Order: sequence, then C-alpha cells, then structure tokens
Amino acid sequence: MLWSLVILLILLIMVMVACVVVSGKRDEQNCRQVVHLIWTAIIAAACYTAFLLVPPDYYGLAVFMDGLYFLSTDWLVVNLLLFTTAYTGLEPPTKLPRYIIVLLALADSISFVVNTFTRHMFELEAEMMGMAGDCYWNVHFKQPHYIHRLFVYSIVLYSLLILLYRFIKEPSIYKKKYGGILVQTLAVVGLNILCAVWDTKFDYSVVLYAFIAIAICYFTLFASPRELLEKIYATVIGDSVLGVIAYDKNGKCIGVNRSAGKFFPGDGEIHALAEEYLSNWEMAHQDDYSTVIAEEQTIIRDNKKKYIYVTYQRFSDEKGRNLGCCFQFENRTEIVKRFREEQYRITHDMLTGLLNRNAFEEAAEKLLAHVEEPYYMVCSNIKDFKLVNELYGAEIGDKLLIAQAEMINRALDESTVIARIFADKFCILMPKRRFNEQEVLEQIEDLKNLNLVSSFKLHYYVGVYEIQDVKEPIWTMYDKAIMAIDTIRGNYEQSICYYEDELLEHIMKEKEVLGELDRAMAEKQFCMFLQPQISNDGAIVGAEALVRWIHPEKGMISPGIFIPTLEKAGLIHKLDLYMWESAAQKLEEWKKLGRENFSISVNISTKDFYYLDICETFRQISEKYDFDVKKLKLEITESALMENVEENMKTLDGLHALGYDIEIDDFGSGYSSLGMLKDIHADILKIDMIFLQETQNVKRSSTILKNIITMSKELGMPVITEGVETKEQVEFLMKVGCDMFQGYYFAKPMKVESFEEVYCRA
Ligand code: C2E
Ligand code: CA
Ligand code: CA
Repeated sequence: MLWSLVILLILLIMVMVACVVVSGKRDEQNCRQVVHLIWTAIIAAACYTAFLLVPPDYYGLAVFMDGLYFLSTDWLVVNLLLFTTAYTGLEPPTKLPRYIIVLLALADSISFVVNTFTRHMFELEAEMMGMAGDCYWNVHFKQPHYIHRLFVYSIVLYSLLILLYRFIKEPSIYKKKYGGILVQTLAVVGLNILCAVWDTKFDYSVVLYAFIAIAICYFTLFASPRELLEKIYATVIGDSVLGVIAYDKNGKCIGVNRSAGKFFPGDGEIHALAEEYLSNWEMAHQDDYSTVIAEEQTIIRDNKKKYIYVTYQRFSDEKGRNLGCCFQFENRTEIVKRFREEQYRITHDMLTGLLNRNAFEEAAEKLLAHVEEPYYMVCSNIKDFKLVNELYGAEIGDKLLIAQAEMINRALDESTVIARIFADKFCILMPKRRFNEQEVLEQIEDLKNLNLVSSFKLHYYVGVYEIQDVKEPIWTMYDKAIMAIDTIRGNYEQSICYYEDELLEHIMKEKEVLGELDRAMAEKQFCMFLQPQISNDGAIVGAEALVRWIHPEKGMISPGIFIPTLEKAGLIHKLDLYMWESAAQKLEEWKKLGRENFSISVNISTKDFYYLDICETFRQISEKYDFDVKKLKLEITESALMENVEENMKTLDGLHALGYDIEIDDFGSGYSSLGMLKDIHADILKIDMIFLQETQNVKRSSTILKNIITMSKELGMPVITEGVETKEQVEFLMKVGCDMFQGYYFAKPMKVESFEEVYCRA
C-alpha cells in the first residue's frame, strides 16, 4: 500500500512537472497563476513522499517533513485562491485581504517548522505495517492543528463559492469555463472530508491536490479556451448581422447562418438555393482566380431595393489544396440610403429641392463639356424680395420661392440644369432653342396671379446670357446674366433682358459715376440749367430746372447718363435737394430784383419719396428762402405718383397746403395715364414728348394729344407740352388748345446766366 502510494505520487509529480513545462510555453491568461499552483502541488507531493519514506529511527526528520507537507498545503490553497480570483475576475479591489491571507499562511508555516521541536501541532508514532515490515507514521493531531485545517478549508470554501457564483451568473456557453474546475474542486474537498472522517492511514489529500492542479491546468489552458472559442465562433457566425454561407471543396453547402437565410427567401430548400447561387457566381467569375472577390449587388425583397455587399472567399491549405469557400453578405441598404440622403443634402437646396450653388457649378460644367448647340444662362430675381419677407413673413416668401421653383422645374430634362443659387436668385442652363420669351412672360404672370402677396406689386426680372465660350467660368456666365438684370432693375415695364457686351461698358460707366460722385458734389460740379417755357401768347412764363454735370475732364455730362445710376444707388435725393435749393435761391434773387413773373419747375424723382419727407423738405425750403411758393413748380412723373397712390395723395395734399403747384411730368409715357387723373389732384399736366416724335402713327398721336388736352381743359388743368421742335408742332398744339410749350424750337436748356441775359433783359 505504502509503495503504491509512493509510486503514484512520483508519477503525479512527473505529470505535474510536464504540466509546468507545457504551460510555460503558452501565453493564455492566468498561465502564471496556474504554474504557481502546480509548483506548490509538486512541493506538497514531494514533501509528503519524502515523509512517507523516512525510516522509523528518524523521528525528528519525519516530524519536520510532515510539517513541511502541511505547510506546503497552506501555500497550495493560497495559490488556489489567487488563481480562482484571477480566473473569475473577482479580485478584491485592494491588496489588503491578500496580505492578510499570506501573513496567516506564513504564521501557520512557522508554526509547523517550530512543531519539529515543540510538537504543539501534531505528534508522530511509528508503526510497523504488513509482512514486509514497512514503517508507517501514525499522526496524532493536537488542538492547534485544527486552526490550520480551518484556515485551509476556509480558503478552499471561499474559492468554491467564487467559482459557483460565476457558474450561476454566466451565460450557458461560458458555464463550462467554470464548471469543470468547480466539479474537480468539489470532488477533492468531498474526498478530503471522507479521508478525515474515516481517519485513513495515509493522507490522500495530497493525491487529490495533485489531481486538482493537473485538472485546473487542463481546463484553464487547454480544454475550456478551445471549446469556448469554438462555441463563441459558432455563436458569432450564427447570429452575425453579416450573412455567411460556407461550402466544402465540392461546392456543397455546409452552413448558412441566420442572416444569410434572409437573402434566400422563397420556397426552395435553402442549401439548394445557396449551391445554385455559388454555381452562378462561379460562372460569372470564371476568369477571376483571386482568393477574395467583392462586389455590390442589388436585390429586390418585398418590393424594396436592397444593396448588398458580397464577399466571396476561397480557402486552401498550406499546400494550396482547395478546402472550400464562403460568401459573406453585408446588407448596406441603410448605409447607401444614408449616403444618398447625405449626398442629396450636400447638393440640393432644402427649401425647393433644386440643385444648390455648388452642385449647379459641377452639373453645368459637366453638361457644357458636351453641348453642340447654342446655350443660354438664364437667371431670375424678384424685385424687392427682401421687402416681401419683411412685410409678409419668411413663410410667405418661402411659398413664393417654392412656387417659382416648381414652375421652373417643369423645364427640367437632361439638356438643362436648374438651381437656386441664393435667396430669390434662380438659374437655368438651357439650350437656346428651348427658351421662349412668351412662355417665360406667361409663367411670370401665373406667379403673380398666385396672389400670395396681396397689394404688393410683384415684379420678376429675367436676365439672359447667350454663352459664347463654353469654357468660360460658370460664375462669369452667371454674373453676365445678373448684369443684364441690373440694367432693368427698377423698371416695371420690362421683365426680360439679354446680356450684351455694351452692358459691361454701361456698368463700368455706372461704377465710374458712383466713384466720382462725392467729389463732384463737394466741388460743386453739378449745376442748374434752365429751359424756357413759353405760353401760347408767346410770352415766357418760366423754365424747367435741369441738372448738368460739368466734369473737369469730360466736359458736360447729360443727366440721362448719371441720373439712373444715382437712382439705382439711392443717391438721387442728395442731388435733387441741391437742385431744389438752387431753384429756390434763384427765385429769391429774382424776387429781390423784381423779376417776379418767372416760375421754375423742378424735378422730383420716384426715389425721393423713399428717402425724403417731401412735404417737410419743401416746408423747410420755403422757410429758408424768401420767394413765392407758387413760382416753384414741382414736376412729379406719373409713374412716381402711381407707385403708392394713397401715400402720395397725402404728400400732394401736404404740398398743396404749403401752396406749391404740382405738375404731372411725362404724362402719357406710363400705362395708367388717363385713369389716374380722376384720383390725383395735380395742377398742371405736362404731356410727354413721345406724342410729338415722328412715328408711323402721326395721325393717331395727334388724336390722342387733342383728346388729352380737351380732357384736361374739362378738368380745369392747364397743359404744357414738352419736346416741341418745329413750327408745325406749335401751330397744331395752339389749334388744339395747348397752354404752354417747352422745346428746342424755343430754346435748349441753358446756363442760368445765359437765360437771364436773354429773357430777363427782354
Ligand atoms: P424730363 O424731366 O422729361 O426733362 C426734359 C428733357 O427733355 C430734358 O433732357 C430736356 O433737355 C429734353 N428736351 C427739352 N426739349 C426737347 C426737345 O425739343 N427735343 C428733345 N429731344 N428733347 C428735349 P435732360 O435735361 O437730358 O434730362 C433728361 C431727364 O433727366 C429729365 O427728363 C429728367 O427726368 C431727368 N432730370 C434732369 N434733371 C434732373 C434733376 O435735377 N433731378 C431729377 N430727379 N431728374 C432730372
Ligand atoms: Ca421734367
Ligand atoms: Ca418730362
């Protein structure tokens, strides 16, 4: 019996040494703890074996060796605890418990060494055994030895509890990781208790400890990681969102995971479908010998398009022999959808759904690279759109833009590019043959008729640039179309304007004017010219004040050049104020000189109404200068009056109250002439020169003229006709009852000094 035990222990020691050697080569987690555990088990087994072999005469040595054995079991269980806490990941947060346990084990160890001399833990008694007369050491435990047992069992129990806790808590595939060790440890503890209860001759615990060390080594480093990995692999592949189908070397389907199953719905057996899929794939890729082939595929499932990224992979062994292959399917529908949405956001205007600025440039360049026919760049702009937003709110402004976008977008096809560039600026690149002016005007009318902004006079401008060179930068083309719009801005009669190179010149000139304006004002380069007005009895009744710019280098510049620019730039009121004051000053001077029979008519621009309180300004003028207000006549064009009738009526009433007379200038040039007369209280009607200009309809013009004069007589308004150039015109006008004339026939506008020289002396 003794020798069988010794041989068994030696065998176990050899196995454990082998375990240490093999474990040392692995880099698994917890390897260090396992090796420590085995080493202590080896030491315990070696000590116990040595103890068993001590002859009966060496009592002291036997006590010492048995003490060493007991002491090594202390360190064995300490290592068991260190291993289980590390293995389960349930290490205490601080090192204190570990230190306490190590200290206790140390104290117990010292106690066993001292026991060699004191025998306070246990005593031995030699007994002869069997026929061979082998010696056997009977152990008599003393009280303190139970403290050692308590220590050892507590630690083992604690380790067991930790393992049990993990075993219960973990998901099923991880249970095995703890289960094997748990069962082994439980068995050891159980057997150990049995040995104690039966009071066996030998302490079989040491054998069991060796077994437990070997088992832990096996479960921790070999069996459970491999098995666990396989299980996790299977779960990962089975439940993966990636579809996976595996085939053997003959193309036979050996596995289809859940996700892949969704790609082959329908009636067929899934393995058969997968095999059919493979043979189709191989047919399509028969010339491709790559190990990995990937491509995008679209499939229709439940009437919905799905984007699938398919990866095919061949497997072979180290000698290049075919092992099989697999497919991976990644459902990219969501990614593609999100990508497209993002792409849409980047390239489109969110309000109207048209292309945005950047996308327009790209698309236009792409289109123009291939066109072989004349193309137009067409831009549109709403007059005072900012005002629409301010008056009616952004929501109405948006509606207006959406309506316009919808209308424009009807022209969309592969030969056009349509975009909203910014705010109310839309842009269309289209073949010249498709641009139809009449259609555009009709569309504009339709937009106006939507009546989204009641009482606001909507006006659309369309600038057209015929592309000369398709390689010209897109934004230069765009600027040219906008330039065309700039030339008709403020003009209600015209909606469409085509870019011409002269436009550029015109714009440059405008810029020049604006640049020089301040200096011209400061240096008093503007001066008042007077053009006489003659009554039908030949007497001079007054003059119209007309501005002239006496430029130091360019000479005299006529107002036709700079007035529209100043109006557009919102600066005309400065000049007008200067002119009005000059006229008032002159009237004051004439009054002092007793020349009170002459009046002066001054012009009031449409834009003055926006920038000045006209009534207040003329009140101040009449206060500042001493003259008869009846002699300063105010010319206001009919279009200015019609722009904001209600407001203007108040202004006219105010001016009348101050004593001023109002002349309706350019009467007949607008489009509301006759109708307006009944509403607007003016004092004098000034008929536009278009009726006198030689046209094909001389007859019709004279009829109209005659009727206007007759009508104004009935309304009690004196009439003055401007642009009179010939004797015949004067005679005709006299005949139909015109009261006054102004025109080159009598005199051109002249310097004030010349006017005074000619007319005042006479
Ligand atoms: P308007 O107020 O209709 O002035 C009459 C224009 O007709 C003047 O041109 C005058 O020189 C021109 N004219 C007079 N008789 C004849 C004629 O027999 N035949 C022809 N073909 N033309 C004649 P002007 O001075 O070049 O002024 C052009 C326009 O500039 C004016 O038209 C007026 O609208 C504006 N303007 C001139 N001075 C001022 C000013 O001080 N303030 C403002 N706001 N506008 C002004
Ligand atoms: Ca005038
Ligand atoms: Ca006029």
